[in-house]
Amino acid sequence: MSQQPYLVFADDCGQIYDHPRLWAVGNSGHETLLPEPDEWIPIPYGSELYILPQTFPLGYQPQTGQIRPLEFQRLNGKRRRVYAVSAYTPPAYTRTLLPAAQYTQPREWLPLRSYTAVGWKDGQFWVAVFKSDPRDGWNPIYYQEDLTAVVQQKLADYPHNRVWKQLARCTLEYQCNAAYNAMKKRLEIPLPTSSACNSSCVGCLSFQPEDSCPASHDRVTYRLRAHEIAEAAVPHLESVDQAVASFGQGCEGEPLLQTKVIAEAIQLIRQHTAKGTININTNGSLPREVQKLCDAGLDAIRVSLNSGVTESYNRYYQPRGYTFADVKKSLKICKENGIFTSINLLVFPGITDQPCEIEGLFQLIEETQLDYIQLRNMSIDPLMYLDLYPEYSHAGRGIRQMVQQLQKHFPSVQFGYFNRAKEQWYSFAETTQKITGNK
Ligand code: SF4
Repeated sequence: MSQQPYLVFADDCGQIYDHPRLWAVGNSGHETLLPEPDEWIPIPYGSELYILPQTFPLGYQPQTGQIRPLEFQRLNGKRRRVYAVSAYTPPAYTRTLLPAAQYTQPREWLPLRSYTAVGWKDGQFWVAVFKSDPRDGWNPIYYQEDLTAVVQQKLADYPHNRVWKQLARCTLEYQCNAAYNAMKKRLEIPLPTSSACNSSCVGCLSFQPEDSCPASHDRVTYRLRAHEIAEAAVPHLESVDQAVASFGQGCEGEPLLQTKVIAEAIQLIRQHTAKGTININTNGSLPREVQKLCDAGLDAIRVSLNSGVTESYNRYYQPRGYTFADVKKSLKICKENGIFTSINLLVFPGITDQPCEIEGLFQLIEETQLDYIQLRNMSIDPLMYLDLYPEYSHAGRGIRQMVQQLQKHFPSVQFGYFNRAKEQWYSFAETTQKITGNK
């Protein structure tokens, strides 16, 4: 019995099969690899499987040691065209390998998801990920309830509050876990505020050009008042244990373009409660605006970036009117003001773990002295992202190996997946050291 999972593939009716001989492989960027057996874990609850159109799956032939495409397979006596299969794991898991597929042309861009290598063994699916955050609060098992009645009650309680109107749509239409938390008064309340952005991320969740893939959400179009934000946030911060309120969500643009109303809202919130943690998820583009939020009472910041290398950052974020140096300056300002400072590192196997990208992260951490790295998966069509970095034609060092290198060099930097309440800022130091330990 092989230690390695077997290749899974699908027919054109969407039926998924495991191959009797070929082993599952995965991609690090453009390069296809046979992973170490411990790189696979049983598929986490709440994961989804996607069939990749316009692809052929790749598998490893143990007898020859060759990796080869599987274009057709005899199924129920007929020779059938087959397709590659990808997994998509829930929050708290960081992907180490992309699905191994040969992409055929012409093709349409895939929707914005973090496509992950998957195989089959011992009667279940296995995926190339590791659990990067020990907390279980965002486990899909807690997001099963139909909240229609709860949402209607919330809208009846706050008929004029546009934050709740937006979160109602996010809960029922987008099935957003962050909005679900707000409706159920647990963990973190999202406060989407901004209708515009000064970046043009290739994989933006709330805005995609005509000829690209569909955006996951419509971007908000309103201009909120501070009292609407405070009215939504205060009851949550007051009543939820270790509560967090976060500006900067997938359904909006850049919150730093709304600093005036956000600073006013933070002050209004703090006039009513000292409880909870006020956080901003941002592209960190405007250091002066960041300083204003620190002065207003911000507790924590999470800056999203895909790289510590200016050129690599610019190719994905396509900044308008700011530079990567501004982003680093924002992180430094927050450290100087005692703000819990984290980055939302958008991880992509084969790019993020390239030697010069790892070196770029070393320099970023040294320069900014940040506290925490959230290891999120870059959700994008693999080829759309790889096309931005043609120079990275070979496999990376390995995402787990990259994290271990960073941990060794920066023992005080913490790693995880989710924002943290102030009570948790430093309470996971030990577990952080073990997160890559599938070993
Ligand atoms: S910073 Fe956010 S809102 Fe702006 S383009 Fe990037 S993903 Fe979209």
